[in-house]
Amino acid sequence: MTKRKIFVDYASTTPVDPQVIKAMKPYFAKLYGNASSLNDYGVAAKRALEKAREGIAKFMKAEANELVFTGSATEANNLVLKGHALKERKAKCHIAISAIEHSSILESAKWLEDQGYKITYLPVDEYGLLRLNALEEALKENATLVSVVHGNNEIGTIQQIEKIAGLCHEYDTLFHTDAVQSFGKIPISVEKVSIDFMTINAHKLYGPKGIGALYIDNPDSIKPLIHGGGHEFGLRSGTENVPGIVGFAKAVELRMEEMLPEAKRLVQLRDKLIKGILEIKDVHLNGHPTRRLPNNANFRFSYIEGEAIVLALDEEGICASSGSACSSTAGEASHVLLALKLRPEEARGSLRLSLGKYNTERDVNYIIQVMPRVVKRLRAMSILKPSRTKANCIS
Ligand SMILES: *Cc1c(COP(=O)(O)O)cnc(C)c1O
Repeated sequence: MTKRKIFVDYASTTPVDPQVIKAMKPYFAKLYGNASSLNDYGVAAKRALEKAREGIAKFMKAEANELVFTGSATEANNLVLKGHALKERKAKCHIAISAIEHSSILESAKWLEDQGYKITYLPVDEYGLLRLNALEEALKENATLVSVVHGNNEIGTIQQIEKIAGLCHEYDTLFHTDAVQSFGKIPISVEKVSIDFMTINAHKLYGPKGIGALYIDNPDSIKPLIHGGGHEFGLRSGTENVPGIVGFAKAVELRMEEMLPEAKRLVQLRDKLIKGILEIKDVHLNGHPTRRLPNNANFRFSYIEGEAIVLALDEEGICASSGSACSSTAGEASHVLLALKLRPEEARGSLRLSLGKYNTERDVNYIIQVMPRVVKRLRAMSILKPSRTKANCIS
């Protein structure tokens, strides 16, 4: 018999909600029209597309025509940074991003830097909170766009987004936030916080993979990267993924209904998990103790590699992650953990447990029960563990 599996990697992706699948289904083989066609099928597809756009926009307190659908959050993040760079003159363009951005922001910024654009990487404190004085310095140096992730995907730290947005606006600088991990988990609205661009996607909130969206306050502040038939207000050409978009809207609707009670439930589970795991010797919490996503727990274990813990937990039926899914296969210490000023060996001993709607207290109890044994076994085999005689040789 296969062992019970506990999925605690909801920050990497989520299962599609059965109600989302049901909403999407008609748009594959029955209502398969091209939303740009003038025939009946096209009109039906167009109607579904615009209803979905309105639905999602409403939940972030935006107007429907401010939302552009993309093929992923990665694409939306590329569109913000590169679209801004194309719009600004190179000599004037200055993009400031936090040091703990998702790889889709970080690598876009690095690529632009290689093309000769000015990029500033803003430091964070030991909990992952953006250093506001560094932000203000970049703003004084005429930053044209600032991009800061709202809820970090690895360590779960939630930024002081009102303050950051407020500062950007004092200096007339555009502000983008990657809200992929926070949207649908904690309240965020582009009306309350003055945000110029915001990235979200469907597959982190029980919707399908391969669909994202970018909120754009002013369409004139950005240039498209993908040219063609002029879809999505001319900002992202290509026939719209109608089933994906319909599923995205349904997923958002369901999340918004469940958000507050679910956040409360997850915080309780998360805090129980954190308390239980921290009872093991030489284990520390990464990220902020309170300003963190309701579902995120991230630990570092002295003397063991994160990958080793993930593999050992997998054998116990626990599906976790050593960091972000995108960097954990590269075998390098995560740039997020290094930005917290952890030493590389500390950054490599990290484990992310991210909870979701199918986790129960029983799951948390099981993880707390299994972990000490796993850690003990791995530490017994570890060559990183300093004994009195070895300690001097390591340095
Ligand atoms: C997952 C994630 C992305 C990328 O989303 P895709 O739709 O998979 O491209 C971007 N930013 C954050 C914070 C994420 O967690």
